[in-house]
Amino acid sequence: MAETAAPHEFVTDTHPAPVDADTRTAMISDPGFGRVFTDHMASVHYHEDKGWHDAKIIPRAPLSLDPATAVLHYAQEIFEGMKAYRLADGSMALFRPEENARRFNESARRMAMPELPDGLFVESVKALVRTDAHWFPPVEGGAIYLRPFMFASEVFLGVKPSAEYRYLVIASPVGGYFKSGAPAIRVWTSEHYTRAAPGGTGAAKCGGNYAASLIAQAEATRHECDQVVFLDAAERRWVEELGGMNLFFLFDDGSIITPPLGGTILPGITRDSIITLAKEAGLTVREEPYAIDQWEADAKSGKLTETFACGTAAVVTPVGKVAGVNGEFTIGAGGPGQLTEKLKSQLVAIQRGDAEDRHGWVHRIE
Ligand SMILES: *Cc1c(COP(=O)(O)O)cnc(C)c1O
Repeated sequence: MAETAAPHEFVTDTHPAPVDADTRTAMISDPGFGRVFTDHMASVHYHEDKGWHDAKIIPRAPLSLDPATAVLHYAQEIFEGMKAYRLADGSMALFRPEENARRFNESARRMAMPELPDGLFVESVKALVRTDAHWFPPVEGGAIYLRPFMFASEVFLGVKPSAEYRYLVIASPVGGYFKSGAPAIRVWTSEHYTRAAPGGTGAAKCGGNYAASLIAQAEATRHECDQVVFLDAAERRWVEELGGMNLFFLFDDGSIITPPLGGTILPGITRDSIITLAKEAGLTVREEPYAIDQWEADAKSGKLTETFACGTAAVVTPVGKVAGVNGEFTIGAGGPGQLTEKLKSQLVAIQRGDAEDRHGWVHRIE
């Protein structure tokens, strides 16, 4: 039944009823995003007296939770988002998984949760991908999106850090994000709602940040926009990020601005990778605040030529129009810009093993 485990090794439980091959083929032929899931999940338990224990790959199944489970009341929960790729030579790889492990623990510290050893985090993801390797979608740009997460599992209504936690990783075959010439999105600047305040949880990848952003996203949708742009909470002037993607501004002199990390912005791994690639391409990258009125003035004067958003799920998404209560403005010709497309294809080529990996970003799964 179960193999014996070495440190950081995940015991794999036999699945009594995995999805049959024909059903799986149909499920992964056009998977979309986040609706199709593989057979298994990684699971580790934590108790303050025992530490982390019971690392296993188990059949993916509903959880049974007591109604007084702490996370359901006080939202002590964090997550990560990353992708496993099938490379041209048939091998499988992750992109900078150590960075996800590090960020997961930074989120854990902010939310008063226990840190998970980096090795255990990376191994949980690798063990799951190995077990469910037959779930890679055979579509152009297909990948397995991985969602590691941790929640407070103690049954107690007192307000305090939980004494028990559950760490899980689920896997979702996804496709369709890498077609070149992706349409540019229209974004909405919310006058009223902000995402993160100084001293708050903006830099932590916690579910609560997303819960707080949904009403602003609904406002954007009502105004026929795809995403919200959040401004800083103190002055409502500095552009921070979208609900789940970081922003880059490209200028006609070959320089690039991206808002600086300072506690209210999520430190994206895609953001960090783009900064590195842009610098290597000879562009000047400045991490500095950029005001919403400057954005409009620069777009109108033509000084600003392109804007894009980036994150693991959609990689790089061009921003074509920016709308708000005072009207809207267009960036460049309103479509995907040349430099945006170039940076995107460079990043995708490295992730897919089609370009030289000069920074050791590609982590193969043996
Ligand atoms: C996850 C996330 C990002 C993007 O991070 P990546 O590591 O590039 O995927 C950006 N903003 C927010 C709010 C996020 O949660």
